[in-house]
Amino acid sequence: MDIVKGNMGWIEVVVGPMFSGKSEELIRRLRRAEIAKQRVQIFKPVIDQRYKKNGIVSHSGLEIDSEMVTQGEDILTKVAARTEVVGIDEAQFLGETVVEACVKLADLGKRVIVAGLDTDFMGRPFEPIPRLLAVAEEITKLLAICMRCGNPAVHTQRLVASEELVVVGAGEMYEARCRRCFEPFLAQQKVEEEKAASAARSHAAR
Ligand SMILES: [Zn+2]
Repeated sequence: MDIVKGNMGWIEVVVGPMFSGKSEELIRRLRRAEIAKQRVQIFKPVIDQRYKKNGIVSHSGLEIDSEMVTQGEDILTKVAARTEVVGIDEAQFLGETVVEACVKLADLGKRVIVAGLDTDFMGRPFEPIPRLLAVAEEITKLLAICMRCGNPAVHTQRLVASEELVVVGAGEMYEARCRRCFEPFLAQQKVEEEKAASAARSHAAR
């Protein structure tokens, strides 16, 4: 943000696929706020249990203490009046109410920094992040590196058989893919293959 006068709040959003460094960028901004002696509070969804209970940890191991919430509205009840900067990681798991929560906090004069996935495993907009982008003052879109060809990667490729919107995991379950290497129907195909295989097995058993 360029020039901010008085105690005006705002919303900045960091989006991109998995492995693009969103959590790292969020932690970097929050650390700088802490160095500037600002009062910071950080939230993440209960669903993201990987690595650590009460901290945000990036894939590269950076970490910062955080509070767990299940819905966007929970953040409003937990933010102290004197908090100046509010960080939210993995916001796509906090439901529709996370948008209203961010708007309320910004209206109260707080700087709100949100990180999240903007597209799902099929490359579709991941609600409510697109709505959050619409009301944000500043948007940073990060790209990962395609694990197939090394080009800039905009997509999160799911490698396992599941059509659920939310399957939390890292490492072997997902990889970053560029536009050319992305296979939006891969997870769906794997589900079909598994169904066919188990049907064949039960047929053979009969
Ligand atoms: Zn590629």
